[in-house]
Amino acid sequence: MDKKKVIIADQINEKGIEDLKEVAEVVVDTAITQEELINKIKDFDAIIVRSRTKVTRNVIEAADKLKIIARAGVGVDNVDVEAATERGIMVVNAPESTSITVAEHAMGLIMSLARKISIADKSVKEGKWEKSRFMGIELNGKTLGIIGMGRIGTQVVIRSKAFGMDILVNDPYITEEAATKLGVKVVDKETLLKNADVITIHVPLTPETKHSISKNEFELMKETAFIINCARGGIINEDALYDALATGKIAGAGLDVFENEPPEGSKLLELDNLVATPHIGASTKEAQRDAAIIVANEVKKVFIGEAPKNVLNMPVLDPETFQAIKPYLTLSEKLADLLIQAAKGNITEVDMTFCGELADFPRLEVFSRAVLKEMLNSILNEPVNMINAPTVAKNRGIVITESKRSEAEGYKSLIKVKIKSDEGELSIEGTAVEEPRIVRIDEYWVNVRPKGTMVIARYKDIPGSIGTIGTKLGEHGINIAKMQVGRQEPGGEAVMVLTVDQKVPADVVDEIRDLEHVYDAVYVQL
Ligand code: NAD
Repeated sequence: MDKKKVIIADQINEKGIEDLKEVAEVVVDTAITQEELINKIKDFDAIIVRSRTKVTRNVIEAADKLKIIARAGVGVDNVDVEAATERGIMVVNAPESTSITVAEHAMGLIMSLARKISIADKSVKEGKWEKSRFMGIELNGKTLGIIGMGRIGTQVVIRSKAFGMDILVNDPYITEEAATKLGVKVVDKETLLKNADVITIHVPLTPETKHSISKNEFELMKETAFIINCARGGIINEDALYDALATGKIAGAGLDVFENEPPEGSKLLELDNLVATPHIGASTKEAQRDAAIIVANEVKKVFIGEAPKNVLNMPVLDPETFQAIKPYLTLSEKLADLLIQAAKGNITEVDMTFCGELADFPRLEVFSRAVLKEMLNSILNEPVNMINAPTVAKNRGIVITESKRSEAEGYKSLIKVKIKSDEGELSIEGTAVEEPRIVRIDEYWVNVRPKGTMVIARYKDIPGSIGTIGTKLGEHGINIAKMQVGRQEPGGEAVMVLTVDQKVPADVVDEIRDLEHVYDAVYVQL
C-alpha cells in the first residue's frame, strides 16, 4: 500500500510532525502560496494548517484524494467547511488544546481585578507608591459564578476550587452527573448573577448568548462583583458594561475579547476598573504544542481507519457507543440497500422512524447518514460518505425526515425507512439484536435475514400462487433456499420473500411479474 501523504502548510509544533512521520510521508512547506497549494494539493491525503493558509473552495476542488483537513487550533474561519463537506472531506480541529490555557487566563484576569495588579503596576511604573489605593479582596470563601461549564468552564472550576471559592454554575445543557462529579451547584442565571462575587463567561457566541449580559443582568449583580469574559466579544453588551463600571453598579471587569477587535475608540478602555488583554486567552506555547499533537493524532487515526474525535462536519461516536449501535448501523445500510434495489422511479423523499429504546439514542443522525450514504452510493457516480450524504441528498432535492416513536411493536427497537418516489412508496422495517432482521415490508410482517439473493413478490393470496412462482424459478434452474410469506388476510394481497441460491436474471423476474395473480416482483442482492 502507498504511504499516505500529508502537507503541513503552516508552522506547527515539531512533536506533531514527528508523530505523523511514523505513519505518513510528511511534506512541510510553511511558505506555500495559495496558487502553489492549488497545484499541489491533488497529491495529498491530508493537510494541516494553522491560520495563515486558507483552505478555500478552489483548493478543495483541486484535491483528488484529500480525506482530512486539520486545523491545529480552534477556529476554522480559514477553512471552507461547506466545500469540504460537499466533497466528503473531514474537517477536524483541536478545541481541547486551549482549555487549560484559557482557564488560566480567566484566573489571571480574576486575580488582576481582585488585587488590582494591572493598575498597581502602572502606578508603580509612574513612580508612585499608592499602597492604600490598591486595597484588594481575597478569593478564598468568595462565590464564583461560571456561565457555561464546557471544556474551559470545567477547567476554571478545578482551578477556582484550589483558591477556596464556592462555585455556582449556569449551563442548561450539562448533565446532573457532570455537575455532581465536579461538586458544583447548578442554578438559574438570575440566582448566579445575584449571588456571585465573580462571574466568568465560557459560553459560545450564539443568537441566544449575544448580549445575554446587558443592563438588566448588571442590575442583578452585587456592587462588589467582577465580571470576566474570555469567551467571545458580543456576549456582554459593552454599552451596558461601560455604564455599570462607570457608575459603580459593579466593581470591575476583565475582558480578553471585544465586540470589535481591536476595540479602537472604545470608552471602556478609559476605565481603571477594566483589565483588558488583546484576545490572547489561547496564546501559550503549550496550547500550540497540544494543538499540533492533537491534530497529528487525528490525521493518524484517519490513516489507520479509526474514527477521529473532533470532526466538525460529521457526528462522531466514542468506540464503546459505536460498538453498541453497530448492529443498527449495519441494519440501516441493509434497509437502504434493499429499498434502493426494490423501489422504482426517482426518489423524492426518505422518511426514517426510530422506535423503542433506540429512539432515546441522542445521535440518531448517524443512522440517517448511513441510510443516505448507502442509497446514494448505489445511484450516483460521485463518492458519497457519512460526511457529505445529507448535503448530496439535499442538493438532489431529496427531502429527509426523521421521527421517533417509543412503541416498537413488541420489539426492543425498530428502524423504519420509507422512500417515496415519483412512482410510489415503499417501506421496510427492521430490528437488530445480534444481527439485522427485516420484520416488515410495507404492511406485511416477515422475518428475513437481509443477506444473499432474493426475489420479493407481491401476489394474490389464493391457492396455487406460491406454487406458480416456485415452478417458474425451477424452470430456470434457480433453487429456493428459504421462503417467507406475509399477508394481512386470507385471499388478499400478500408478500413473498424467496431467498435463492443463484442470481435471477432480469427476464426471469419479468416472467414472474407476468404470472397470473402476481402483482409485482423484484430481485435484490444484499
Ligand atoms: P464548550 O463547547 O466546551 O462549552 C460551552 C458550554 O456553554 C457548554 O457546556 C454549553 O452547554 C454551554 N452553553 C451554551 N449555551 C449556553 C447558555 N445560553 N447558557 C449557559 N450555558 C450555555 O466550549 P469551550 O471550549 O469551553 O469554549 C467556551 C468559549 O470560549 C467559546 O466561546 C470559545 O469560542 C471561547 N474561547 C475563547 C478563547 C480565547 O482566546 N479567549 C480561546 C478558546 C475558546
